[in-house]
Amino acid sequence: AKQEGKGTYRFFEPSMSIQIRERRSIEHDLHSALNSGELSLVYQPQAQVETSVVFGFEALLRWTHPVRGAVPPSVFIPIAEESGLILTIGEWVMRQACREAASWSRPLNISVNVSALQLGSDGFPHLVQSILDETGLAPNRLEIEITETALVRDPHRALHSLRKLKELGVNIAMDDFGTGYSSLSNLQAFPFDKIKIDRSFVQEIHTKPHAAAIVRAVLGLGRGLGLPVIAEGVETLEELKFLGMEGCVEAQGYLFGRPVPISELASLIRDNVAG
Ligand code: C2E
Ligand code: CA
Ligand code: CA
Ligand code: CA
Repeated sequence: AKQEGKGTYRFFEPSMSIQIRERRSIEHDLHSALNSGELSLVYQPQAQVETSVVFGFEALLRWTHPVRGAVPPSVFIPIAEESGLILTIGEWVMRQACREAASWSRPLNISVNVSALQLGSDGFPHLVQSILDETGLAPNRLEIEITETALVRDPHRALHSLRKLKELGVNIAMDDFGTGYSSLSNLQAFPFDKIKIDRSFVQEIHTKPHAAAIVRAVLGLGRGLGLPVIAEGVETLEELKFLGMEGCVEAQGYLFGRPVPISELASLIRDNVAG
């Protein structure tokens, strides 16, 4: 193998080690990011399709590295998950999102992404309970977004946690529906309150007939199961029109607004929300 692989080995080795070093360096820096105030939340509006009235926001994590600048979540979230750091970071996200939402001038919903490791961790529902108590946020204003990956590893544990969260009055949304491990039985076996159609389908509504068919099918599924469906990644009026015609009630995407920092949120909530 040594002989045959010599060229290949030499070719791959440097770039592999750079990748590994890069990953280690990010993981190392992520350890201190929380305490150095490099993490922050941005908020993206969720709106009614018919009226464009904003009813809530999804909290999304941002990391501004002192040297690298903005590190995308697609880079650091997987590293945080693999290293277990997502537990500390996720707790910070939950507390920060609930605290900030509790101070909004209107009682809009707040959606928080929760990763598999968090959902399966000991005492997660209890942690959420403490954060709700501590921040004074009404439980029914909080929605937890989980992907199906969070269910597959340890379904019993996941079910137990989700039931406890439901008992608190917290809402549960299935995120990125239609991708990855999607299984229809999950919608029945776990206490979901909402389905989020993944943006990859929404963005191809007008270019790929299959994507439009999938969106339609998920909307039909939601109707059949009595679960509201929110479409994510809505960027154009055409997409919104299609969704409205197909009976989709809620949407999120650049068309309604990009994620904004808390400093820009107050005026958004005051000015852009009816009623
Ligand atoms: P996600 O939960 O599916 O979040 C939606 C992503 O789509 C966000 O990317 C958002 O900025 C982006 N997006 C929203 N509307 C549009 C649109 O109209 N067009 C396009 N092209 N993109 C749109 P972001 O902020 O980069 O987050 C990426 C992923 O990182 C999230 O996907 C989520 O899985 C993860 N993530 C972000 N914040 C957290 C967090 O606090 N905790 C955990 N566990 N995961 C997080
Ligand atoms: Ca999400
Ligand atoms: Ca999503
Ligand atoms: Ca996604």
